[in-house]
Amino acid sequence: MEYASTRDKNLAVSAAYAIKTGLAPDGGLFVPKSLPRVFGEELSELAQMSYSERAVRILGKFLTDFSAEEITDCAQSAYNKEKFETDEIAPLYKLSNGVYFLELWHGPTCAFKDMALQILPHLLKKSVVKTGETKEVVILVATSGDTGKAALEGFKDVNGTRIIVFYPEKGVSDIQKRQMVTQEGNNVDVAAVNGNFDDAQSGVKKIFGDSEYAEVLERNNFMLSSANSINWGRLVPQIVYYFSAYCNLLKCDEIKLGEPVNFVVPTGNFGNILAAYYAKEMGLPVGKLICASNENNILTDFIRTGVYDKNRLFKTTSSPSMDILISSNLERLLYHVTGCDDKQVAAWMKELAETGRYEVSADVKAKIQELFYGGFCDDTQTEKTIAETNSAYGYVIDTHTAVAKCVYDAYCKETGDATKSVIVSTASPFKFSNHVLSAVAGAEALSGLDEFAMLDALAEKADLTIPAPLANLKAKPVIFNTTCEKTEMYEVVSHMLNLL
Ligand SMILES: *Cc1c(COP(=O)(O)O)cnc(C)c1O
Repeated sequence: MEYASTRDKNLAVSAAYAIKTGLAPDGGLFVPKSLPRVFGEELSELAQMSYSERAVRILGKFLTDFSAEEITDCAQSAYNKEKFETDEIAPLYKLSNGVYFLELWHGPTCAFKDMALQILPHLLKKSVVKTGETKEVVILVATSGDTGKAALEGFKDVNGTRIIVFYPEKGVSDIQKRQMVTQEGNNVDVAAVNGNFDDAQSGVKKIFGDSEYAEVLERNNFMLSSANSINWGRLVPQIVYYFSAYCNLLKCDEIKLGEPVNFVVPTGNFGNILAAYYAKEMGLPVGKLICASNENNILTDFIRTGVYDKNRLFKTTSSPSMDILISSNLERLLYHVTGCDDKQVAAWMKELAETGRYEVSADVKAKIQELFYGGFCDDTQTEKTIAETNSAYGYVIDTHTAVAKCVYDAYCKETGDATKSVIVSTASPFKFSNHVLSAVAGAEALSGLDEFAMLDALAEKADLTIPAPLANLKAKPVIFNTTCEKTEMYEVVSHMLNLL
């Protein structure tokens, strides 16, 4: 299967090339030129398989330049009992008749980013070899929290790769910081940047765009690559869990083969929900795709009006992984719903870069509304949803998942749609334990507690076990204590790589 760019449909590269380079040379995103079909009896067949076997089957249809053996090797290295707390990898929780949560946070960092970042390093390493590259790959990451840790865990000890993560000194939670500075592995490095997330991100972007520095790296036999969510190698593994969720419902006789299911997705960069769209286009019986946002509700407005306008205030919310005003992966959806109109997509993206706004045609808007429903909620509603879900069902959800549940409830009320629905649960409640504890036990329960004491308090209050990766954190020695100015990021990289 070949891949084009959203801004040049005539481009034709292999999956390995797309994964190795991350971004198309024209600034567009790589998209598959056709979609494989998976439906009917093949779904019943998938239902009998393990998660890792399902992944091999789906990935194999997209990564046609990889051998079955190679893909099996990648999937088995990623989705196993050592890395995930459950054999099922991505289990479903039945809340009530027709409503389920797809728990994507049983991996090593307790958030759904693990679903892709556990397998990406293996895919990337093989892609590098396949494209004849002999240099060692250096992954540079700027993180606002979840991605950095998930990338570190994914890349640690993967031969032929190095990973360097920069995080803003004052922009991550104590737990997130602790997760990163205690990272083990023989190929990992972590540094704090004196500044905010934007400072760290602009520093990393500058290094990526610096051709002179690229030559220095090349002389030392290194090349840079990226693990961020626009890489096709991060998107394609996410398609798997939508098929897997449907198959689990089939297997438990919750649905009949062919019966449609809605998916509700807490959305930021539009990567997760785009994977659900691909699954639907491949033939998975999917009803509505429900796109849930927090108060940074740019996608809700876009789905409802056809106008994408980022000229608005950025809000800091209790679901920080969705605090985002440029949903990069939307570009891929636009490419597909316009019938691969690369010129139009490039024009919209140019408008977005220059004015912060673009508007799609009535026809495109209608197509998007047929597929998607958009809704949002604020922090007060998020907290209320956590409290209500706990008191009605004894099930505790994190803030991001609560945004999805809240929007789903509003959707049902508005439309009366009774289609069975899967709400995608993207983080363990312990990862955001301050907000969750406050919701289930009242704000006063937080007083005097540090982040570790909050984990204990939440475990006791909700009668849950703290996930091992978070419970173990307190006792782990700090390995990294480098802090640099944003002007010093080059030197830090050079020093870490021992550049000549
Ligand atoms: C990254 C993230 C999201 C948003 O996912 P996108 O693919 O960026 O839309 C939602 N919830 C959590 C917990 C996340 O870490």
